[in-house]
Amino acid sequence: MSILKKYLMPSKYVKNIFEITPQELEAQGVKAIITDLDNTLVGWDVELATEEVVTWFNQMAEAGIKITIVSNNNETRVATFATPLEVDYIFNARKPMGLAFKKATKAMAVTPGETVVIGDQMMTDVLAANSNGFYSIMVVPVKSNDEWKTRVNRMMERRFLAYFKRKGYISWEE
Ligand SMILES: [Mg+2]
Repeated sequence: MSILKKYLMPSKYVKNIFEITPQELEAQGVKAIITDLDNTLVGWDVELATEEVVTWFNQMAEAGIKITIVSNNNETRVATFATPLEVDYIFNARKPMGLAFKKATKAMAVTPGETVVIGDQMMTDVLAANSNGFYSIMVVPVKSNDEWKTRVNRMMERRFLAYFKRKGYISWEE
């Protein structure tokens, strides 16, 4: 397996979080979710969870699956979003560094093997997950026009995605 594939290829690639169901996670033995916020749960410029997102969080909670939001964004952004959902969160997470993921699993009392990481960015979310022993689920960004901060990452991501598709590792087309 190539280095690129090992670190940057998501374990699974889906259109949005709603394709990830508690039934499917339970069948996989998953007990916890670490999820990114911006462009994963809602668009980067949307302040609060939509009704659909609230329902998704409730379904996971009912199934006994714990969730922590781990975001590189600042405290105001992450707390404003997470507090009404009554979900734990870590801000300024510095993904792709893995420290925030370690903190999250420790707080949820789970192992990386029992946890899936969900995110929209290969260079932060997937890289952090894959290099720390997590199953990674990449979603298509909720909003295609990103903040300027992520432009360079997106450029690299597009090249790697094209490479993985060419290799046949990813069969699904956007
Ligand atoms: Mg994101």
